[in-house]
Amino acid sequence: MGRFAPSPTGPLHLGSLYTALASYLDARQHNGLWLLRIDDLDTPRNTPGASDEILNCLQSFGLHWDGEVYYQSQHLDQYEQTVAELQNRHELYPCTCSRSLLANSPLIYPGYCRAKTELTNTPHSLRVKTADISTRFVDDLQGEISQNLASEHGDFIVKRKDGIIAYQLACVVDDHRQKVSRVVRGYDLLDSTAKQLYLQHLLGYPSLQYMHIPLIVDHRGNKLSKQTRAEAVNSHQAGPTLFLLLTLLKQNPPPDLRLAAIDSILEWAIEHWQTERLTNTQTVSALQHN
Ligand code: GLU
Ligand code: ZN
Repeated sequence: MGRFAPSPTGPLHLGSLYTALASYLDARQHNGLWLLRIDDLDTPRNTPGASDEILNCLQSFGLHWDGEVYYQSQHLDQYEQTVAELQNRHELYPCTCSRSLLANSPLIYPGYCRAKTELTNTPHSLRVKTADISTRFVDDLQGEISQNLASEHGDFIVKRKDGIIAYQLACVVDDHRQKVSRVVRGYDLLDSTAKQLYLQHLLGYPSLQYMHIPLIVDHRGNKLSKQTRAEAVNSHQAGPTLFLLLTLLKQNPPPDLRLAAIDSILEWAIEHWQTERLTNTQTVSALQHN
């Protein structure tokens, strides 16, 4: 079972559609379901209308998901329950550090509040105590990854001071609840994986198979994103755009596929989906192909 989990911060751009397509092809080739989850917990960053825009866009590219769309904002109880469970087991502690203290601290949180156990009335985030052991996993494309959470990441936040559940926790809870077995996502999330494996371990969830695909970069080498003002993909050019994305996924689509109907393009792509060509690749440039 695979899934695509965009944050509704804006319309899909080439980079996000690239991830959507890769996870779709991966799921379909494994005869698996492909679920759509909208990661809309970070309410200040949500853009009105973006979720619907994403849904319409996926449809117009022929990327049809299975079942109902899963909106994280409709499942707050589950995250709170999981937080409470971790709290009861003393895996979390309240962190009252101010923004300015953190800004003037090492990048890896030095555990100032680790000894705090009491819940305080002071506004606080909740951090998980990380262990000084290495977490290992084998990524389908990036190979064996080994990270020491305590020394490389530090105790990380599962619930923010503003009450918002952090992405790492919500993602782990949902991937488990939705019975996701394969996660295909951008290379920028590789660094989150050890944290997610650690939470899965604490919660007794089975771990998943991960594949972190390259990021599409612009001519300056920057990842396409809202911040770099990446353009929204044009649904009226669905076929040629899919063809371009398959080229960027190094699938070598035959040239006559470029003007084929989107269903034929996707059918070809599912049948020929081969990820080996992306092994150890972290970025691909959109420019060479325009
Ligand atoms: N919502 C996350 C993002 O758009 C992706 C989550 C994931 O695939 O794990 O960056
Ligand atoms: Zn603190």
